[in-house]
Amino acid sequence: MTHVIDGKAIAAAMREQTARSAALLRERGVIPALAVVVPTGDESAAWYVRSIERAAGAAGIDCRIHRLPPPGGRLLIADKLAELSADPAVHGIICQSPLPEGVELAAVGSSIAVHKDVDGANPASLGILAAGLPGAFPPATAAAVMEILRREDVPLRGRRAVVVGRSTVVGKPTALLLLAEHATVTICHSRTRGLPGVCREADVLVVAAGKPEMVNASYVAPGAVVIDVGINPTRGGGVVGDADTGAIAGIAAAITPVPGGVGPVTTAQLMDHTVRAALSERC
Ligand code: NAD
Repeated sequence: MTHVIDGKAIAAAMREQTARSAALLRERGVIPALAVVVPTGDESAAWYVRSIERAAGAAGIDCRIHRLPPPGGRLLIADKLAELSADPAVHGIICQSPLPEGVELAAVGSSIAVHKDVDGANPASLGILAAGLPGAFPPATAAAVMEILRREDVPLRGRRAVVVGRSTVVGKPTALLLLAEHATVTICHSRTRGLPGVCREADVLVVAAGKPEMVNASYVAPGAVVIDVGINPTRGGGVVGDADTGAIAGIAAAITPVPGGVGPVTTAQLMDHTVRAALSERC
């Protein structure tokens, strides 16, 4: 039997902890605050921003949305992020994707102060993570993958972990975090040869390719844990992951569902990072 990991339950438990920390901060006169900069009118981003607002409200975090007037170019976005970085009332900052055409996250993310960079958008945050130093937050999705593995008691030390996807927001930071937990890590991408065979070597398989139901039975070793990061919209208005859950049921030991797996934990992780940022500023 493949265990289906309940991301919603994990997120709820995390939210409770975060809300307790936020309440303590409020008692001491600090209101944890998250600023979300929204540079486009993209519909899926609007949905995600609403979910961040709800999660922040539930955790006792003050969430302020900054919608930029179109066309929000690189300078306008970078200026807003720099302004928020200098605002002592703001503890966490997110620059919501998608960005306007031609604007790279790295180019604007570097305007977010590292200690407020709760979604790891500043390339300096990734550098600090790669150096194994404290003081920066990994992207929330990468942190969510690790939180799920930790709460599910999945052993990592000395185990084989394969990450499919090498983006700076998911694949690379997840691989670095797995490495920090002493896993032996392989990163795969669109040009990897013999992908199913490489994936079959994994004790822990993290898939973040954005390819609907790509991972079938030929990718999964018996007893592997599969963390499915992919979110792929379907024609019917739903979403599916990168793993074909039906095909790997009975082979994998555990899998995160889509929806209800990594997604809600990512949002909870953003709240956790924001409260941590507020706490560390107070110390
Ligand atoms: P991306 O497009 O930036 O990167 C995709 C990566 O997958 C690339 O490195 C590419 O080389 C690799 N890839 C693409 N096709 C492949 C193939 N056929 N075989 C092997 N590798 C392949 O995407 P991203 O921003 O890293 O996001 C990946 C997926 O995760 C998307 O579906 C996205 O929606 C989802 N996502 C989910 C969350 C969450 O909270 N659950 C957060 C961020 C992204």
